[in-house]
Amino acid sequence: MSGAPAVGASAAYSPAAPKKLDNVAVPVCTVCGTPVSADVRALQCERCGDPNKWKCIGCLAVSADAYDMLIACKELCWFCHECSEDVVKIKDD
Ligand SMILES: [Zn+2]
Ligand SMILES: [Zn+2]
Repeated sequence: MSGAPAVGASAAYSPAAPKKLDNVAVPVCTVCGTPVSADVRALQCERCGDPNKWKCIGCLAVSADAYDMLIACKELCWFCHECSEDVVKIKDD
């Protein structure tokens, strides 16, 4: 019987491997600062698409169910303050 465990297979593992998202700029909610990762429901301005203007549904007072429904219907539109003012002006004309 061999009492020495084989450790060669695990020698290649690097404990310093970078996290998956380290190289990707994860947007954050502009209100509460929550990182908008894949499992965080948040909205980005539909108009200017400014990556710095995300807001999570918690700060938008949108329920997760409503968000999912809107996403499924492709009816979801949210505009940042500046863009929404523009839209209001156009619609009021
Ligand atoms: Zn937030
Ligand atoms: Zn905008």
